[in-house]
Formats: sequence, C-alpha cells, structure tokens
Amino acid sequence: MESYDVIIVGTGAGGGTLARHLAPSGKKILLLERGSWLPREPENWSTDAVFVDNRYVSPDTWYDGDGRAFQPGVHYFVGGATKLYGAALYRLRKEDFGELRHHDGISPAWPISYDELEPYYTLAEERYQVHGARGEDPTEPPASAPYPHPAVSHEPRIQQLSDDLEAAGHHPFHAPCGIMLDESSPPYSTCVRCSQCDGFPCLVHAKSDAEVLGVRPALEHANVTLLTDATVTSLATNGGGTAVTHVVVERDGSEEQYAGDVVVVACGAANTAKLLLLSASDAHPNGLANGSDQVGRNYMFHDSTAVLALSREENVTAYQKTLGLNDFYFGSDDFEFPLGNVQMVGKSQAAMFRGERPRETRLAPEWTLERMARHAIDFWLSTEDLPSPENRVTLDRDGNIVLTYAETNAEAKKQLYARVKSILGKLDMNPDHLIHRFAYMKNDIPVAGCAHQAGTCRFGADPASSVLDVSCKAHELDNLYVVDTSVFPSIGAVNPALTAMANSLRVGDHLLARMA
Ligand SMILES: Cc1cc2nc3c(=O)[nH]c(=O)nc-3n(C[C@H](O)[C@H](O)[C@H](O)COP(=O)(O)OP(=O)(O)OC[C@H]3O[C@@H](n4cnc5c(N)ncnc54)[C@H](O)[C@@H]3O)c2cc1C
Ligand code: SF4
Repeated sequence: MESYDVIIVGTGAGGGTLARHLAPSGKKILLLERGSWLPREPENWSTDAVFVDNRYVSPDTWYDGDGRAFQPGVHYFVGGATKLYGAALYRLRKEDFGELRHHDGISPAWPISYDELEPYYTLAEERYQVHGARGEDPTEPPASAPYPHPAVSHEPRIQQLSDDLEAAGHHPFHAPCGIMLDESSPPYSTCVRCSQCDGFPCLVHAKSDAEVLGVRPALEHANVTLLTDATVTSLATNGGGTAVTHVVVERDGSEEQYAGDVVVVACGAANTAKLLLLSASDAHPNGLANGSDQVGRNYMFHDSTAVLALSREENVTAYQKTLGLNDFYFGSDDFEFPLGNVQMVGKSQAAMFRGERPRETRLAPEWTLERMARHAIDFWLSTEDLPSPENRVTLDRDGNIVLTYAETNAEAKKQLYARVKSILGKLDMNPDHLIHRFAYMKNDIPVAGCAHQAGTCRFGADPASSVLDVSCKAHELDNLYVVDTSVFPSIGAVNPALTAMANSLRVGDHLLARMA
C-alpha cells in the first residue's frame, strides 16, 4: 500500500487551500477528489446549461427528515463548491467569535478568538486575491493589512443604489470580491467582468476558486499527487481506534487503499459527516470520532432569501455583486437581535426564471420575464441560523445522507426582509414588485439549497460537546483532522468560504509544526 505523509480528502475551499499551504514543505501529499476537473467549455457561461439544465449540479440523492428524496445543490469537482460560487469573500465579524444572543436563542462562541484567526484571514485574502475597501462597513472587524487589491467598482446602476442608500443614511460598502479583475489595465486583466459569474464556473479561470488558487499551485510541487474520480468510502484505524492507518477509495469501479501519517477530511459539511459515520468500527461503533454523538449534528446553511427588486429604470449591470450592507447585522433600532447581511447576487436573466418557480410571474402579471430581468436588481439576504443538535446529517440503511432540518431564527429573517423592502420602497424601485426569488433553490425542498452548508463536526475545547479540538484534530484520534465548513460552531450571517480558507491555513500551520 502506497504511503503518504498527508492525505487530504476533498479539494474545495478547505482541502484545496490546505494543499497549497502544505505543498512547499516537500512532504509527500495525496489529494483525493471524488469529482473530475470541471470541463472548460462554452457551456460554462450558458445560462440555459447552468440554470435550466443543471449541467454542473452533481447527481446525488439525499433524503429529508421525512424520507423524501431530493437532489442537493452540490458540485463534485476539483475545487468543490468554489467552482460555482459567487466569490463574495467576507470575514466573519469579530463578535461572531463570541456568544451572541439572537431572537431564537444563542449563537455559541468559537473556541478561538477573531484575533487568533485574523492573520489567517489576511493570508487567505492574499491567496484568493480579494478585492475590497476597508473602512466603509461599520461592522467590519479589525484587519492587519489592507485588501490586497482595490475594490471592484460599481457599475452605474449600483453606484446610484449606493448613493441613494447613503443619502438615506445607510452605510453601503464595496463587497469583498474574489475575481481577478484589473481595472487599471483592462488588456492585461484575467477577468473580463461578465454577467455569468455567480453560480457559473468561470471559463477563463479568473474566479478565485480553490482549483485555480489552491489545487493547481499545489500541483506545481512534485511531492503533491492528485487523484480525481476517487471517492473515499471509509477511513480505517488501528486496532485501538486511536489513529487512522489508511483510507479506502473507490476509483474506476475498484477499491484502492492509501496509508497516511496524517489524514485530513474536507468533503464539505454533509459529506464529511457521512464519511465519519460510514467509518464506524468496533472501536468507534457510532462512527469515527463520534464518542460524543456530535458527528452530523448542528447542521447550518443560513436563512437566506434571494430578493429581486424591479427598478423603474432598466438595470444593465453586468457584474452586480459589488455592494453590501451590514447596517442590520447586529439588529436595528426597533429589533434588538441580529438580523443579518444584505448583498447583491448575480444579475438575473430571463432564462434563470424559467429554471425557477413560475409562481413569481403571477406577482407581476403585466411584466414579461424578459422585462422583469431587464429591470431587476437582485439582492441576497442572509440571516444566521442557529446550531441545533436536532438539525443533523444521519445515514439511512444504504449509507445515503438524511438531512433533518427545522428552520431557526425565522423571525429575524422576516424582519430583515421587511427592512430591505422598506428601504427600497423609498428608493427608485417599484416597491409593490419586490419579490422573492430562488436563484440557488430550484427544488421545492428548501434543504436542497445547501450552498452554505456548515456545522456537523464542530471544533471546541470540550470533547463531550464537540468532535474536534482547537487544532481541528479529532478529540479521539491522534492523526485525523477536518478543515472544511463542518468545523464551524456557528455560521454568522456572511458567506462562509473565506472563513473555511483562513481556518484551513491556521490548521495548516499546526500541521507544518507537527511534521517539522
Ligand atoms: C452556487 C454557490 C454560490 C456560493 N457563493 C458563495 C460566495 O459568494 N461566498 C462564499 O463565501 N461562499 C459561497 N458559496 C459557498 C462556498 O462555496 C462553500 O462554503 C465552500 O466551498 C465550502 O468549502 P468546503 O471545503 O467545506 O467544501 P467544498 O468546497 O464543497 O469541497 C468539498 C470537496 O470534497 C469532495 N468530496 C466530497 N466527498 C468526498 C469523498 N467521499 N471523497 C473524495 N472527495 C469528496 C467534493 O467533491 C468537493 O470537491 C457558494 C456555494 C455555491 C454552491
Ligand atoms: S466576472 Fe470575471 S471571474 Fe466572474 S465569470 Fe466573468 S470573467 Fe470569470
């Protein structure tokens, strides 16, 4: 059996980032990815292919708590979900690392402070070439360095929205964007600033995803090997169950095994829990590292609402994701609990509506889909959902994922929507036509929209209430680590990828010290 210093399972935000960080060490590293390279083809930028035909949604069947099958919005490729993500690369707020009281209960503290993660946020912003502007967002946490690249400029309609919001007393800011756009030198810019970014793969590899800026740079080192189409089906341990000895892989219809001194799991929150639960043994009868019965629990994915506002004038914006608003992040004058983050989502197009629920059109019967799309300004509202032990991943008898989820913090979500509606009503919009949209949720079952999945293997100081210790090593094993969003004890209300990347770099430094 071939043996490695480190085996990393999964190549997304967590795994891809770690691979690049460890690669220069010269250690023998194996990357195992169940998906293939995402093909570079004209369909990358086809709205019909991506939003109607679901070309890049991986065929997988999960079940909800009532046993109903659904297709989750997952993407099994080198680079994981970041191949399709919107690359809004936010830091959690400093306060998110402490305990926060919400309308529905407590968002628990992380076992590390913001200050401990801050240097790694800075490094992650550098590695993922984040564009932004410090000092505009009043909730912004302290940072030890400026953004490595200037903020992406607003196009005229979004600049007008920003000006209108400011005039109304709000604090809109330039959103942190992971796109390789050089506005000072367009002929040399990798990014061409197009409308096919959020939810699409980038045909010209200008999106800061984990394939382009994690896996590919890692593979420049001869000590790193990547196996694609390699699904890890279980982790095997020594007799005492104190260390993982090897990983079992299904590839090309046959089974392979690889030994690793250190094994790092980064399959995404649901699949990481699945892999640990599938790896039950005599020493770990409830699943690997699951003596606490915490594996799979505390699943979160944000209370998100995609909202489409119809502007009186046409909105010809191409790249719309440049503006954010955190004025309600921690509450408002008349609501003492946190409400969440408001940002822009990719500009809607008529074909996207056809891939979604036709119900919306009834709300604006005199508007054709094309006219709606031309006038639409698209917002994404995120409220924090709270970790609940009953919101969890389990497996059915055949080893399929069962995702049981009951909404938390619904009142805060409702209140955030009401505030956005009230603001927009005072701006140059058609207030009666502010309608919900399900850009990432074409399925009737809400849990299918699992883009921001997190929790399931949280890290903490207490082995009774967490799966991983502060270094994200399993409490019960000497050499098993997890570095994806499953480690999150709480999810905050901003997008999760940069935090997963930063934490992966933090754990990476721990591993480099361990292996030195
Ligand atoms: C459409 C969309 C838009 C998004 N927009 C944003 C955004 O703007 N900003 C943001 O911060 N976040 C965004 N996200 C979320 C972000 O992409 C995820 O939070 C992030 O990628 C999670 O990283 P991860 O390492 O936990 O998992 P992933 O990135 O999903 O990586 C997991 C990897 O593990 C592989 N894998 C799974 N099981 C196995 C197995 N058994 N064996 C081998 N390999 C396995 C998968 O194929 C995948 O490559 C978006 C997501 C989607 C889908
Ligand atoms: S906006 Fe830039 S990064 Fe995004 S898909 Fe277009 S070219 Fe790629």
